[in-house]
Amino acid sequence: MAGGVTPATDVVVVGGGVIGTSSAYWLAKAGYEVVLLERRPAPGQLTTPNALGTIRTQFGTPSLVAMAQESAAFYRDIQAHLGVSHAEIGYANQGYVYLTPRPEDAPRIAESLAGYEALGVTSSVLLDQQEIERSYPFAGESVAGIFHGDGAWVNPAKIAAAWADASTGVSFRYGVDVHSITSDGSARDGASWTVATSEGPISAANVVVCAGPYSSAMLAPFGLDLPIKITPRYRAFIPDTDVDHAAAPLVINIVNGAYWRPVPGGVWLSHANVDDQEVEPGEKVTIPDGFLAEAIDLIEPVSPRLAATARAIDPADVVYAGGFQMYPADDVPIIGAVPGHDGLFMNCGHWAGVMLSPASGRLLADVVSGNVEGADNPCRVERFADGEASRSSTNKFGGWG
Ligand SMILES: Cc1cc2nc3c(=O)[nH]c(=O)nc-3n(C[C@H](O)[C@H](O)[C@H](O)COP(=O)(O)OP(=O)(O)OC[C@H]3O[C@@H](n4cnc5c(N)ncnc54)[C@H](O)[C@@H]3O)c2cc1C
Repeated sequence: MAGGVTPATDVVVVGGGVIGTSSAYWLAKAGYEVVLLERRPAPGQLTTPNALGTIRTQFGTPSLVAMAQESAAFYRDIQAHLGVSHAEIGYANQGYVYLTPRPEDAPRIAESLAGYEALGVTSSVLLDQQEIERSYPFAGESVAGIFHGDGAWVNPAKIAAAWADASTGVSFRYGVDVHSITSDGSARDGASWTVATSEGPISAANVVVCAGPYSSAMLAPFGLDLPIKITPRYRAFIPDTDVDHAAAPLVINIVNGAYWRPVPGGVWLSHANVDDQEVEPGEKVTIPDGFLAEAIDLIEPVSPRLAATARAIDPADVVYAGGFQMYPADDVPIIGAVPGHDGLFMNCGHWAGVMLSPASGRLLADVVSGNVEGADNPCRVERFADGEASRSSTNKFGGWG
């Protein structure tokens, strides 16, 4: 920096969650000079660390399947890509198991398996009651299910840090609040964009908005009314020494979307009711009083031992977390150029941003560099106006109902 003035850069990335850090990584790899601005003191501090960090390839939309498969392969081989071991990021490939206590769900489960296979997701097998009793001794009255071998998880708090650590050459500036993004001619060194921040203006040829739940508001001045619903989502850590639970896959009750997965020393329990109320994003989520009791009731039919443990636990030992989930109208993230504003891009609307961060950052960098254009980008915002966007019922847990 000369004379206190920051020289113009190729790309400013706004936001250092798992999506901003992944975008910065791929942009730097593509040869861009990148400055990442994050209001918090470190990467991955808003929505990202509150996730359950689960990874899968089962989706009902071809573009999501492709992104999920690319991302799952990246995570499997993350040591070669980012130089971190599976142990360092809490990666485990214990699978996903979707269970139901209702015999009448069996045909629907078989149908969904056929749907996944038609989209090239071949790592799933149907389970009958006998198989469930043999493989999942914690599964109570479950009578049918599906096991997904690609199912895995990572520690979400560690992923954004891993992206940042591997982003050679990126200038990460923490504690910097972005106030506005403009192309009013005030940018320096021939750049088009001025990013006004708590530490002064920064000029850039390109700006990428990765501001998580704040992205819609940040992009509204550019004529975008993004169809992204923001809804609070929570998880609870339950201390648990049950060895069957520690060895379990991610377990989902397909009747109601409640789910849990093992973590060191216990489990994380959550439920994903997609019809939750829409809220304004903020810096902190308030966990509702009844969340844990509701989650326990919802998981009990497919995991009664866990429900009993959770009910018996000293409330002081339960650790809660929560964040603002982002659901685009068709569940596909919004990645690409902002129409009519050359050099302005977005990577937002992620409800599964931890699992999809490898593919979404790569796609964003390909769009910025012009390697992917127009309809070749299934995540472009124009899909809503073109009438291409449609919601699949198999995209997330609550969508099973
Ligand atoms: C309870 C829960 C469970 C979840 N489970 C999963 C799961 O199992 N698997 C999965 O893949 N995903 C899961 N998710 C979703 C996942 O957490 C998100 O998709 C992901 O974290 C989104 O990342 P992001 O970078 O877009 O947003 P964020 O992590 O919110 O990052 C955005 C960043 O932008 C910064 N920022 C915003 N405005 C400004 C500004 N003006 N100036 C400077 N900085 C700014 C913020 O401080 C923040 O750090 C879950 C989420 C929740 C809440």
